[in-house]
Amino acid sequence: MSDKILKTDDEWKRILTEEQFRVLREKGTETPNSGKYYRFHKHGVFLCAACGNELFSSETKFESGTGWPSFWAAVSSDNVETAPDRSLDRERTEVLCARCGGHLGHVFADGPEPTGMRYCINSVSLGFREEE
Ligand code: FE
Repeated sequence: MSDKILKTDDEWKRILTEEQFRVLREKGTETPNSGKYYRFHKHGVFLCAACGNELFSSETKFESGTGWPSFWAAVSSDNVETAPDRSLDRERTEVLCARCGGHLGHVFADGPEPTGMRYCINSVSLGFREEE
């Protein structure tokens, strides 16, 4: 991922919906159970809603019961980045798109095998490309 995308807030606002801007650029969180990819079972690849970067495969999606789309792995460790998030009283690990820096959600170490990881991702940060 050498082709980083850098845009100003004004440029992002022209591309993103208000809710996408709030989550992707201002690190917001969508209301649980509200997202279009929470109960969603098609086969394909989930993309960054801001830049189209491939982020998660439907092969790694699982029912977490949390209200947000959940995955046990990213498509590639090159495509997502993590950062410490101390905005609550407990420390969490933020997940970002490695290409545009968009906020996707958080990752927790209480996921299923084979990785034991749970990427808890906002639907509004995602697009989807269906595959056979
Ligand atoms: Fe992106």
